[in-house]
Amino acid sequence: MALAVASFCVSALLQSPNRGESPAPKKPKYVFYFIGDGMSFNHILGTEQFFAVKENKGEIERLNFTKFDTRNFVTNYSTSNPVTDSAAAGTALATGVKTANACIGVDDQDRELRSILDVASELGYKIGLVTNVGINHATPSCFYGHTSDRFGFPKLVNDYISSDVAFIAGSTIMDMKSGPEDPKYEKVTTAQLAERIRNAGIELTLDIDKAAKTRGKRVALVANDKENKHVPYVLDRREGDDYHTLLNHSKAAIDYLSREAEDGFFLMIEGGKLDYAAHEQDAVATFYEVREFAQAVQLALDFAEQHPDETLIVVTADHETGGMSLGWDHYEIRMNLLLKQRSSAVQLTKTMQKMRAEGKRDWADYKKLLSDEFGLWSVVPVTAEEEKLLKDDFYNIFLKYGPMVDGLYNKSEYIVYHAIGILNRHASIEWTSMYHTGMYTPIFANGVGEEKFLECRDQTEIPKTLARLMGGQL
Ligand SMILES: [Zn+2]
Repeated sequence: MALAVASFCVSALLQSPNRGESPAPKKPKYVFYFIGDGMSFNHILGTEQFFAVKENKGEIERLNFTKFDTRNFVTNYSTSNPVTDSAAAGTALATGVKTANACIGVDDQDRELRSILDVASELGYKIGLVTNVGINHATPSCFYGHTSDRFGFPKLVNDYISSDVAFIAGSTIMDMKSGPEDPKYEKVTTAQLAERIRNAGIELTLDIDKAAKTRGKRVALVANDKENKHVPYVLDRREGDDYHTLLNHSKAAIDYLSREAEDGFFLMIEGGKLDYAAHEQDAVATFYEVREFAQAVQLALDFAEQHPDETLIVVTADHETGGMSLGWDHYEIRMNLLLKQRSSAVQLTKTMQKMRAEGKRDWADYKKLLSDEFGLWSVVPVTAEEEKLLKDDFYNIFLKYGPMVDGLYNKSEYIVYHAIGILNRHASIEWTSMYHTGMYTPIFANGVGEEKFLECRDQTEIPKTLARLMGGQL
């Protein structure tokens, strides 16, 4: 009997058609492509640990996308260095081609590349891009733009205008104030770039409801169309700051695309401020950004519930930022020491500068501020040596209008830079870089064709896989 069963199995295998080839998966009609800028394994895990302590859960509640059945990790090096930047990594994730750092939508020989957006558009998908940084910042612009100079912000606006992006949303339109002082750059303001977008017949608006309900017209939704100013970190949100958020912009994009797109849509959503927070080595600010990013993923999961068998959700990152380590001091992480932080390091620098402008020159005022906003002394046991460091910063640098710590996106007062370092270190979180590291980045996939992402070994294979699943090629 056993023999009979065995021989039946063998013959069944021999007769099965296309053995070794899996059948072509169903085509996803709705594709969500989430990119957490700078979000690697520890940013995700740290977020889970922090909120477990903050919300007194007892045990860790996993972020939604970490529960996807399909999980993998990929390399992300660029052609110029093992450590990539958001331009080269964004290009890899958008076009499937590795390029040199600072290149957007071009290879390292400056040749323009086709992106997944071109493929999707040719196949009839409507395109949406959402970020919480500038709409012409590195990650979104890698999908529609082409330049070997990531400070070519005005050029990227022109590329956006001539692209097939139906819906775009972000903080602002970045102008040349963000770039170097160099005569080769076109001097143009955010307001002028907004005008350029409007003149092209695009509905550029600050009104989320209007953006979601616009029909038959391209939409650009921004929080600011006058100046190059980003929305605050989630951690720094105060009264009235909860309107222009990654979550609300993503909702508007889904609303608009579901009405406009008969043949399906392709929507990229970037958590861009997550990278900024990690550049500033600010763990709590990073964790809040990761959590909001996961809330945006939840919108896609809710959408998928309404459209089962038609939706694909891919969540990944472009690179790791900050070299974040969970556990530095003994065998312990002390997230409880971070619970009192209620401003980001960037916000604290702004507050201190305001105090300085108001003529406050008393150490006691600044010590109180560090205690109120970061929990130093009140919950974090600051050592005498650490206090001396902060006090020295206060006298030697702060009162003398001294130099600032130059992060990529924001400058910090030394006193704040050291204070956030002290806070993180007491919690046993350490950072090894103010920039990016070359470590692996994760992929999580859910829905139509998800298992195909198990084959990816480098981030360039992600958009290629997406293109194939949609019925095209990159
Ligand atoms: Zn970065």
